[in-house]
Amino acid sequence: MTTDPGPARPPRISKSKFLSGLQCEKRLYLELHAPHLATAPDDRQQSMFDMGQEIGILAHRRFPGGVLVAETHRHVSVALEKTAALMADPLVPAIFEGALQYDGVLIRVDVLERAGPSWRLIEVKASARVRAVHLDDLAVQTYVLRGAGFDPAGSFLMHINRHYAYPGGDPEPVQLFLIDDCTEAVGERLPGIPARLERMRSVLAGGRAPEIEPDSHCHSPHACRFWAHCTASKPARWIYYLPGAGNVARRLRQQGIDTIDAIPPQTPLTHAQRRVRDNVEWISPRLAEKLQAVRYPVHHLDFETVMSAVPLYAGTRPYQPLPMQWSNHTETADGALRHTARLCLSPQDPREEIAVSVLESVGEEGSICVYSDSEAHILKSLADAIPRLRNDLLRVVRRLWDLLPVLQSHYYHPDFQGSFSLKSVLPALAPSLDYGDLEIRDGATASMIYRTMLAETDWVERQRMAGALDAYCARDTLGMVELRRTLLRKARSAAS
Ligand code: SF4
Repeated sequence: MTTDPGPARPPRISKSKFLSGLQCEKRLYLELHAPHLATAPDDRQQSMFDMGQEIGILAHRRFPGGVLVAETHRHVSVALEKTAALMADPLVPAIFEGALQYDGVLIRVDVLERAGPSWRLIEVKASARVRAVHLDDLAVQTYVLRGAGFDPAGSFLMHINRHYAYPGGDPEPVQLFLIDDCTEAVGERLPGIPARLERMRSVLAGGRAPEIEPDSHCHSPHACRFWAHCTASKPARWIYYLPGAGNVARRLRQQGIDTIDAIPPQTPLTHAQRRVRDNVEWISPRLAEKLQAVRYPVHHLDFETVMSAVPLYAGTRPYQPLPMQWSNHTETADGALRHTARLCLSPQDPREEIAVSVLESVGEEGSICVYSDSEAHILKSLADAIPRLRNDLLRVVRRLWDLLPVLQSHYYHPDFQGSFSLKSVLPALAPSLDYGDLEIRDGATASMIYRTMLAETDWVERQRMAGALDAYCARDTLGMVELRRTLLRKARSAAS
């Protein structure tokens, strides 16, 4: 005899799935029914996740006597029971990671703080401000809390205070965090939640992922890890890749135009968009003149910075970018090349060491080639932080020569695909110098590896990380050398 299992129970929706569903219903569907199609988190995403955890633990210190519900998602029923017991105990002033559920939605609340007979609902974020997604996050938690029989005394976001001046030692959680009262904005979102949940359940029960075109919504508020899956069948010159053109691309798509090659000739486009559409190499007649404006020896300078939600050094603030490394390839008029570099390995604030050593490296002569204005910002911030070196550092700023705007205004290669970042430009113009062979391929990963390296006690592992950082920073400056040389060759050959 077989037993009729009855209608399938709708899957329980967690808070994070609810937020995924608000961003994109297809994302929600895939996360629950085909999670294997997602790209694995990269180092940068993992580092953000780790930072969020570190912030969460620090936040607990602001609520002395608080009790953690440590049971993970594998032991939900124990977590629910334990939370209920803690809420019933008047001696418990706060609960961390409390589990509650209502209407098929399970939440884990970062902090429930007792407020007389009621509770304050507090979500902790590493962010420096309140964003719309945080309000949605608080709204679904408030919905569950109310449904479970606890009308919260208010909904709050606890986030990083960007202006906190870290004095050293243990960070002070009362000053490191700000707590914003979001009760009113959350209240406005509450009435819409039941309908949204119903809609999400019907999507999940639909038997197949909804047809949703990938677009700008895939990157905000969070980068969706199904991007590679959803765009796998798109043409190489998909209209979405037209630069700076969310609206233009959308309008063209609505007209049935799916590739950049199909854009009608009369379509109004910017200079950059026309270059991408025309898809041919273009060399401005003024390129050679622009490139020859430098004075030898030409230094090619790049800084890397470390940034952290919880300040690393006394006297600094959350998310303040601090230079911890530089690389300089110096080219003399006869074409000879010399490389100097510095990676600060001490656990102290790296700024003084970086400022002194970079001044020595660039000396008093020659142009300093950079790629973007970020080196100017870093040098000015060093000048502000170290008064005795201020004039020297500002003199260096006056010698900076930015290759990026020269390239943007005077050259285009089809392989740039509309992007002028070094990571796009180098493979096209100096293929031997792309970043494929490097462990570190972007600045955010460099910052994360640097922080990991400082805490690493194994000497061999520390050396390996230092080597990876050196290789990454040196690649940027050697890339600039090759870029200048290649562009000059092309400009001269076009003129002859
Ligand atoms: S990539 Fe975009 S369309 Fe695809 S699931 Fe993610 S958000 Fe939705």
